[in-house]
Amino acid sequence: MQDLTKLTDQELGDFFNSFDTILADIDGVLRNVLQPIPGSVEAIKSLKKMGKQFTFVTNNTTKSVDTLYQELKAAGFDVEKSEIVTPLAPMVSHLQKQNLPRKTVFVIGMPVIKQALKDAGFTLAPNGPDRFKDAIEVFSSLAIEDDGSVEAVICDVDMNLNYLNLQKAATFLERPEVIFIAGATDVKFPVGKGNRILIGPGIFIQILERMTKRTAIKIAKPSPFLNEFIVEKYGIKDRSRVLFIGDSIPEDMGFAGNCGYKKLLVLSGLAKKSSLENWEFEEKCKPEFYVDSLKEVHELALRLFGK
Ligand SMILES: [Mg+2]
Repeated sequence: MQDLTKLTDQELGDFFNSFDTILADIDGVLRNVLQPIPGSVEAIKSLKKMGKQFTFVTNNTTKSVDTLYQELKAAGFDVEKSEIVTPLAPMVSHLQKQNLPRKTVFVIGMPVIKQALKDAGFTLAPNGPDRFKDAIEVFSSLAIEDDGSVEAVICDVDMNLNYLNLQKAATFLERPEVIFIAGATDVKFPVGKGNRILIGPGIFIQILERMTKRTAIKIAKPSPFLNEFIVEKYGIKDRSRVLFIGDSIPEDMGFAGNCGYKKLLVLSGLAKKSSLENWEFEEKCKPEFYVDSLKEVHELALRLFGK
């Protein structure tokens, strides 16, 4: 693991010449919440000027690609809608390939996921109710109700997640033929100033896996599942010429490690310098390079190429 800013000009030149394609995470790399990380707008511009191809890869399914695009554009990023990937499209495409006879799914997730599935012709089994005032007997009879119509359970970020929906998912998953799909498995969800951490959706997926003794098909980073979609969509041929820039060691660096990409860790989001000094992750997650933020990448590119 080398500090990018400590490289000689020769080494830095070799670094910039070692990749043609950049896969970059969004939150913690380009922005924190909706605020661009200082220097990140300029860094994307200068890397694009160098001819690098970009794909922005986020685990965030709380927003549509269209919304993410609008937000990044409004923040001044040089980004195209076609350059943004979330786990949503590969999730829908995987479900479509299963040829489910009833196309009926149960979703723990935000309205964006539900809408995407509806648009793809799926029927959503009812969630809820959202509030429960009755006795446990009523709750439990609702929670174990299963008419056998649900063919897949999808679990992702749901800011309105409740006990009943989690239990309903567990009930459906008791039938072994029901497909179990997980979106983001992040156990930490950084938000707001000072990177306050929320409980990530991965914790709830773990509850379902533990309860049902089943393993979900993971769609988001670090799963290589997402990569199959990326490779196909963007025609990536030589993985050794791809650089992944991310702020999360398990998700981003893990993904890059699973896919055979070069890794640049930025310390502007989840990962801190202390995580590098006291390494507690798998070896495959170790980034070749790290840097405080994209601001330094921009400054290094300026120093070397004057652009
Ligand atoms: Mg991130």
